[in-house]
Amino acid sequence: METIKVIVAGPRGKMGSEALNMIQREQHLSLAACIDRENDGINVKDIHGLPDLDALIYTDAEACLNEVEADVLIDLTTPDNGYIHTKLALNNGVRPVVGTTGFTQEQLQELTSLAEEKQLGTVIAPNFAIGAVLMMQFSKWAAKHFPDVEIIEKHHDQKLDAPSGTAVKTAELIKEVRNPHHQGHKDEKETLPGARGADEEGMRIHSMRLPGLVAHQEVVFGGLGETLTIKHDSIHRESFMSGVKLAVEKAVELDTLVYGLEHLLD
Ligand code: NAP
Repeated sequence: METIKVIVAGPRGKMGSEALNMIQREQHLSLAACIDRENDGINVKDIHGLPDLDALIYTDAEACLNEVEADVLIDLTTPDNGYIHTKLALNNGVRPVVGTTGFTQEQLQELTSLAEEKQLGTVIAPNFAIGAVLMMQFSKWAAKHFPDVEIIEKHHDQKLDAPSGTAVKTAELIKEVRNPHHQGHKDEKETLPGARGADEEGMRIHSMRLPGLVAHQEVVFGGLGETLTIKHDSIHRESFMSGVKLAVEKAVELDTLVYGLEHLLD
């Protein structure tokens, strides 16, 4: 396999640093550069806490994507910056693999069109953990038989977007097989606003944020005299890296945008 040259945006972050470790482990991946908010012009290997990888850090994303010879950008930053980086990558012939969550539907549509226009493989996945992808697929299957469903997602308290990208994606998959309808009593009233969670076509989504959590989700289905719970826990961020690696390998073969890791699995 030919070496794939990768730029990582967000290398000091919890996910970005795992991506650097993954690149260091994989013989067919090499780090071309990093995009960070600090440490302009410094080599990754000279920064305490980052792996021994020989690549320069840029604080100017446009200069990085324009000057550095790279195949793929892995973005693990924040919703606003991730969107800007993804567009810059596509406009500079670099294929984006985006783990950053919180893009709007309009942004996703715009990026889909841009990737198609540029014919550049792009992977945006709200969850790169294989177990989470299976949880979403199983949930879609279960919703055919149990249309009353609530999603409870739980994340660490530094997360910026709510509900999580995984919860939004799960709801989208369920919506493909579930007719919109109100759940709960028709006269129910919230005595504390928000008590029933977000309302997506009558399906409720609840977001919990606590220190100590990583990324967890339960999809609870209710039927006559029974409930079914489909649950996934990422207990360490390395759980996402086999999916990120797969996405990098697929991005160089694709020429359109793929949203969701499930489309890359057999
Ligand atoms: P994090 O620890 O806060 O890391 C984000 C990093 O991005 C920080 O180091 C931050 O730097 C950096 N950053 C912010 N703006 C930047 C910019 N303009 N250029 C370069 N770097 C910039 O967050 P995380 O937990 O790693 O999560 C990162 C993203 O991945 C989030 O959107 C999260 O929801 C998502 N995520 C996705 C998955 C998945 O499977 N798809 C799994 C987990 C998390 P500062 O510290 O200086 O601000």
